[in-house]
Amino acid sequence: MMTSPSFQPTPSIPFELRQSPIQGLGAFATRRIRKGARIIEYIGERITQAEADVRYDDESMERHHTFLFNLDDDTVLDAGTVHNESRYINHSCEPNCQSLIDKGHIHIYALRAIEPGEELTYDYAYERTPEMGDDAEGLYVCRCGTPSCRGTILAPEKKAPARRKKSASKAKRSAKAPSKSKSKAASKSKAASKSKAASKSKSPATSRSKSAGRGRRAAS
Ligand SMILES: [Zn+2]
Repeated sequence: MMTSPSFQPTPSIPFELRQSPIQGLGAFATRRIRKGARIIEYIGERITQAEADVRYDDESMERHHTFLFNLDDDTVLDAGTVHNESRYINHSCEPNCQSLIDKGHIHIYALRAIEPGEELTYDYAYERTPEMGDDAEGLYVCRCGTPSCRGTILAPEKKAPARRKKSASKAKRSAKAPSKSKSKAASKSKAASKSKAASKSKSPATSRSKSAGRGRRAAS
């Protein structure tokens, strides 16, 4: 897999890939990573939401697919076809990293100082969709093993308040960070207003309604 033509290796990344207690291959720090450091870009083929739905149907898959990452309402990054080491960073409900979208790119940042040997994780926060049934939690089960594990990779249930709270604290956090904070805030609010429009226009008759929902990672 490391030699596949669709694999785009990143030079001098601060982690190595090896077997993880969480799942499959994981990313483990090979040197100390300072808080706020940008670790790697999440690389994936840029496809439409509709194309992602066509490619992956969770209902027919043994296990949920974890390589889709929502860039915005129209675009998904599919790291199943084009990818780098970033896709091996596992999910955790108590992560030491976070994903942020900036100018059409998704990067993984350190939430805190990370010591060599620590596994890098971030919260995939799979978007809940109206089409997801009662079995969704079981489909997207989390076994990260942290004390506050919520048992699912799906984003926490209380959607709107959690999001508002999150973005508020993030604004505080990123205010300390360099230039990216401004463009970040801008793209966020754009995405927010867009998603409102999108959810209005999406009718239940779309092909999506047939599925239990296909999980996409979402930026924190
Ligand atoms: Zn968990």
